[in-house]
Amino acid sequence: MEQNPMAVFSLAGKVALITGGGSGIGFDIANCMVSAGGRVVITGRREEPLREAVAKLGERAQYRVNDVTKRDSLDALVEEIERTIAPVDILVNNAGINMKKPALEVTDEDFDRIVHTNLNSVFSLTRVCAQRMMARKSGSIIMISSMAAYYGIDRVAAYAASKSGVEGMVKVLASEFSGNGVRVNAIAPGFIETAMSKTAMGGDPDRFARAMRRTPMGKFGQPEDIGWAAVFLASEAAKYITGVSLPVDGGNSIGF
Ligand code: NDP
Repeated sequence: MEQNPMAVFSLAGKVALITGGGSGIGFDIANCMVSAGGRVVITGRREEPLREAVAKLGERAQYRVNDVTKRDSLDALVEEIERTIAPVDILVNNAGINMKKPALEVTDEDFDRIVHTNLNSVFSLTRVCAQRMMARKSGSIIMISSMAAYYGIDRVAAYAASKSGVEGMVKVLASEFSGNGVRVNAIAPGFIETAMSKTAMGGDPDRFARAMRRTPMGKFGQPEDIGWAAVFLASEAAKYITGVSLPVDGGNSIGF
């Protein structure tokens, strides 16, 4: 029996909460999800980029100013979205920060700041959303990991620790939640053209060359490459996929 691919990949009727959706990868995840028929709520700390992003995304997009590290704000954030818009079907934990420093120069404060944003806050928001998704027996949670969780990239100790933690969490949460209809997966982006990667690579041609040498496709990815992978993982097309980390990396994770 022929199936309609437009229907199986469609996010029509779904609501996605995307942290850090005002720029970079998060914006393109929002754009791809809106293009797939979904509604999105994007968050971030700065209002202006969010306002501009929503103007581009159109009427199926809204924003909420929220700092994901303020963990006692997350319950109210999700409660308000579900009360005024609709239940959150899809959570994308995209907000993240990076820092490039030799490990011996990383202070405890540096380490805590990175892990607090990229790991601790991801767990808190996931717990808030998953409690509601589990009660409805339906949901898709997507984490944004990194190649830094796959192999040793120098000068990103805190970032790699945080993303490795996310990778572990995906497997545990998928084990606990999937029987209740809530799938949990990660996307591990390779080197994607955004403000973050420009900062990490800027003025460091050796790092750029090394990254490209081990990327068989020989180029950076675009934020929309992550966006379409997120649409897939959130859609019915991925209804039997849980607990995976999907590299979207031009082959970087398997390059020699
Ligand atoms: P950007 O720096 O371009 O965007 C990060 C976004 O997160 C911004 O919109 C920022 O908005 C938001 N953000 C940061 N801190 C917080 C916070 N405390 N609360 C809410 N929002 C926050 O980064 P990318 O788009 O490159 O990265 C997105 C994700 O992809 C990150 O998790 C990153 O680790 C991951 N990644 C990126 C790769 C790349 O090559 N670019 C490679 C691998 C992974 P605001 O400042 O207004 O809060």
